[in-house]
Amino acid sequence: MGLEDRDALQILQAALDPGPGSDDLIRRFYTHWFALDTHVRDLFPPELAHQRETFRQAMHWVFGEFVAQRAQAPVAFLAQLGRDHRKYGVTQQNYDTMRRAWYTTMRTHLIDDWTAAVDDAAVQAINLISGIMAGAADAEDGPPWWDGTVLEHHRVSRDVAVIRLHLDRPMPYHPGQYVNVQIPQWPRRWRYLSPAMPADPDGFIEFHVRSVLGGMVSNSMVGETRPGDRWRLSSPHGALHVDRDGGDVLMVAGSTGLAPLRAIIMDLCRFGENPRVHLFFGARYPCELYDLRTLWEIAGSNPWLSVSPVSDYPGDPPWAADYPDVQPPRGLHVRQTGQLPAVVSRYGGWGDRQILVCGGPAMVRATRDALVAKGAPADRIQHDPLVG
Ligand SMILES: Cc1cc2nc3c(=O)[nH]c(=O)nc-3n(C[C@H](O)[C@H](O)[C@H](O)COP(=O)(O)OP(=O)(O)OC[C@H]3O[C@@H](n4cnc5c(N)ncnc54)[C@H](O)[C@@H]3O)c2cc1C
Repeated sequence: MGLEDRDALQILQAALDPGPGSDDLIRRFYTHWFALDTHVRDLFPPELAHQRETFRQAMHWVFGEFVAQRAQAPVAFLAQLGRDHRKYGVTQQNYDTMRRAWYTTMRTHLIDDWTAAVDDAAVQAINLISGIMAGAADAEDGPPWWDGTVLEHHRVSRDVAVIRLHLDRPMPYHPGQYVNVQIPQWPRRWRYLSPAMPADPDGFIEFHVRSVLGGMVSNSMVGETRPGDRWRLSSPHGALHVDRDGGDVLMVAGSTGLAPLRAIIMDLCRFGENPRVHLFFGARYPCELYDLRTLWEIAGSNPWLSVSPVSDYPGDPPWAADYPDVQPPRGLHVRQTGQLPAVVSRYGGWGDRQILVCGGPAMVRATRDALVAKGAPADRIQHDPLVG
């Protein structure tokens, strides 16, 4: 029966349900794998808690799809995972040891339920998972990563930096996509960033980074990055986009959540006619609306774009004087005071729009919920994965 045995697959999936049991299973899997293959340990960051939880969630979902006898989505997901893991330097041998470690750990963990049928399902599922990842990695002939040199680092506000790099070779991506980034100050701690401009054939790329309170990598990016630093970027992910035939657009950007929306807006500038785009750009203080001048320039020559600045507080803190003045000449909508979800949904649900929301996970969730409560169809609202 193997992969057709839904009862056996359900037993395997249940072992990955959230809770102390699955924590122990995943912990023992990694210990076993690192013992079998010492090279693998060096591919992961020192603290593994996040990695373990991500792996548990991914495997729980994959086994759930197998139980439902759906193959298309897990195959696509695992193939992308395999292609993406090339940036860590994962080899075919590592996949082989992963397969052995995963099988042995599951069997030991489920010893009381381990029938011949469960064994059959486990062998076939684990072979399929590691086989798809290894096969997709092997078949991919594009580069596993892109290296680039930091050219400029501008501290545009206390917590935000604009960082421009030149990649050794140009990276193709769609405006609105994001990449995984590794910086020299924090080897092996990859973090997602969204390019703030469309792909450039000469290899120039720009990121906007906000330092998160207590955050490891973002504080180094904002505070310690220097021209000459070498960054490594993974292949692009994500599907945020504007359908030019899909009607008018609402964009909501919290702080550096502006980056992917700015890339999409810049890309739209290639066309003479576009759907109307209304962008709400929000931050805590007016001085943190760091890119208003660029938006003002784009809106000045592209009548389809209107921009509403929003800040939580009406005035600036004393440290604002240490950073560039972000106020553009008159031309944009008057700045509004309030939290983005409340300000945006004050105008209704924007249900007739394509809606794109970008920013920190809490702001994205709150904006999505506020718009849905006002009548926006949830399936018209796009955002990136809510991590953190
Ligand atoms: C698809 C995607 C695209 C992204 N693009 C950008 C971008 O273009 N520019 C940018 O500045 N950031 C972006 N991020 C966020 C970025 O990847 C990091 O999560 C963030 O910089 C924090 O990393 P850290 O190492 O400093 O914090 P960590 O050490 O990983 O985390 C420290 C603490 O901060 C919390 N935290 C993590 N991220 C956030 C957040 N965004 N808001 C509030 N709390 C958080 C964590 O839960 C944790 O408690 C993006 C994230 C995703 C998922």
